[in-house]
Amino acid sequence: MKKTIEKLAGDTEGVSYELTVFRFKGTSKTAPTAYIQAALHAGELPGVVAVHALMPLLRKAEAEGRILGDITVVPAANPVGRAQYFFGELEGRFHLGTRTNFNRDFPLIDRPDAGALPPADEAMTTDVRLKHLLVRLSMGHDIVLDLHCDFEAVPYLYVPAQLWPAMQDCAAAMGVEAVILWEGASGAAFEEASIHPYLQMPPEKAGLDKRVVTTVEYRGIGDVYEKYAKSDAMGLYRLLATRGVISDEKTARPRKFTGPTVPIDHVEMIDMPRSGAILFHVEPGQRVRKGAKVATIVHTPGEPDGALDILAPQSGYVLTRVWQRWGRAGDNMIKLLGERRSNDARQGALED
Ligand SMILES: [Zn+2]
Repeated sequence: MKKTIEKLAGDTEGVSYELTVFRFKGTSKTAPTAYIQAALHAGELPGVVAVHALMPLLRKAEAEGRILGDITVVPAANPVGRAQYFFGELEGRFHLGTRTNFNRDFPLIDRPDAGALPPADEAMTTDVRLKHLLVRLSMGHDIVLDLHCDFEAVPYLYVPAQLWPAMQDCAAAMGVEAVILWEGASGAAFEEASIHPYLQMPPEKAGLDKRVVTTVEYRGIGDVYEKYAKSDAMGLYRLLATRGVISDEKTARPRKFTGPTVPIDHVEMIDMPRSGAILFHVEPGQRVRKGAKVATIVHTPGEPDGALDILAPQSGYVLTRVWQRWGRAGDNMIKLLGERRSNDARQGALED
């Protein structure tokens, strides 16, 4: 295993960032290769602790000569966001300097070659240079995993529709509960930037059946626990074994994914019609019928008609809910995986 430190200059003099990269060299030239990064949204740490728990498994596999394909690991992909404390609160989703989401506006290049990236430009802001660096580090790997989390959620995946159902074994190996399939554009998220070059090729050249690209949502932002870190690390290890990046016959047993798998236009983004305190009546992982009461908003406390019930717009599966118990009109409260297309289906990414 080789460790390197990537340096990233800040936007002002005297400021710079460091990012650690671990590389395991595979013994086979034909085995698939894998890239894993965590905490691109810098406050989303379930993936970071999962990677920390995965590393001893990778070191052991390396010591036993069982790493077949190259593996690159970036345990904390966003030191820029990690340092953004604003009045005591971590802002790890948007770069404060440009107000741009760290997981949007990645360069979409037309071939899987870092040489196709626009040339480095001194006028680029740090967040843009970070995005170019992550594309360069991940480029050329057959398996690309971007570990995030939601607010309160079951573990689930975003998967490019073109890779499904070929990626079923990965969802099963990782032990996630649900899968959202997306197509078209996602606001140039890292996941889209990772698959985009291959979608520009003739399908027979792109090898989509062997390619794995996913945004992994490891439950909620507060679900940073040793038990999840260990089980998620085991899930990642199982995926690597199942796809032949690591040799481990016992672990590589193929599994079938049986959880809800829905196209992104089936997702009901249940938003707040007005501001107030949120009383949830459902939790992630629960199935609900159309018209079921999913939350109550107390908007005018003390008044007899000061609360408003929010009903499920269709039957489905509660995927996520926000962790705050307050919100403004228009804020999202719940993502529900509907049984049919949402009347309010979004284009592109579900969230800003
Ligand atoms: Zn995220």
